[in-house]
Amino acid sequence: MNNDINILELTFERFQHEMADTYGRDRYVAADVYRQIFKNGHLDIMKSRNRSLTGPFLDKLSAGIWIPPARIVEEKYEDSLLKFVTRLEDDQTIETVVIPMISHNTLCISSQVGCRMGCRFCETASLGFRRNLTTAEITGQVFTARFHYGYDIRNIVFMGMGEPLDNFDNVVQAIRVLTDPRGFDIAMSHITLSTAGLTDKIGQLAELNWPLLHLAISLNAPNDRIRSLIMPINQAHPMEKIRETLLTYPLSRSFSFYIEYVVIKGINDSEENAFELVDFLSPLPVWFNLIPYNKGSDKGFSPTTEDDMDRFRDYLISQKAFVRKRSTRGKSIMGACGQLGHSRLDPVIF
Ligand code: SF4
Repeated sequence: MNNDINILELTFERFQHEMADTYGRDRYVAADVYRQIFKNGHLDIMKSRNRSLTGPFLDKLSAGIWIPPARIVEEKYEDSLLKFVTRLEDDQTIETVVIPMISHNTLCISSQVGCRMGCRFCETASLGFRRNLTTAEITGQVFTARFHYGYDIRNIVFMGMGEPLDNFDNVVQAIRVLTDPRGFDIAMSHITLSTAGLTDKIGQLAELNWPLLHLAISLNAPNDRIRSLIMPINQAHPMEKIRETLLTYPLSRSFSFYIEYVVIKGINDSEENAFELVDFLSPLPVWFNLIPYNKGSDKGFSPTTEDDMDRFRDYLISQKAFVRKRSTRGKSIMGACGQLGHSRLDPVIF
């Protein structure tokens, strides 16, 4: 009996069924094992008060419960911000970014290897789509940040490599595991899922009725003409359809949709663009997150300066919009927004 139970893909409810089926053990043993692993990063038997966790049964458990090892092949720091690259079982790599904030740490996690959405301002797009991450590979990034690096991770943003809703089932299961109070215990209201606007999948997400999950729409344009230019996915999911979908989405009344907007010099940053954008979204509760275009390995667009950002922010504010300017942290290590995926070009293996 080897590696029968991959704990990183199971909520406690499912884990206890697996424990009952595989070992014939009751809920109390399962609860102890689950708690120990998510509290310590391993099954610390010395801290267990459960006397049945001994001898041959413990050996069986150790062989049977699989906690994937963190295979870190690269790590880079910019001040306190960390980007780490994990090598997966099939030798693909994914990137994860730890963003220390004043009172907590946020983890920006990946949901796919590469991405098929093809956004022109994004480094990950140049990888193309390689494959979906499994649930355990998604939650494993949080496990690594907590137990390999020791960060107290309390916020998760699905803004790393990949389009999370293009890997719907595994991402939804990952959110269930991450929010399990007996395990990772991350509040749903501390998770943000960012999507390029796959309207059918947003509809499916709506059916789950998770009003406390933050939903971020990577919009990046005030109209279809500009959006189609920088986001090919707009042909299949045009802006009007996105707006209609959001109008019926069951978001908590106290929440706003986050509108992610990569400000690209000379493309989507004029005063007219700002007015059109605010007008288009006026029926919805929204909060704008402005992200400077961070230059990747392409030469297509010019990087956005601080002045460009301030100017565009002021245009939006003049229309009474709520706006937050995202910092450019991580730029020097290709860990800022839109830059993930660069590591394949410059691997440092240790
Ligand atoms: S911005 Fe997001 S959705 Fe677009 S290509 Fe990059 S990872 Fe994919």
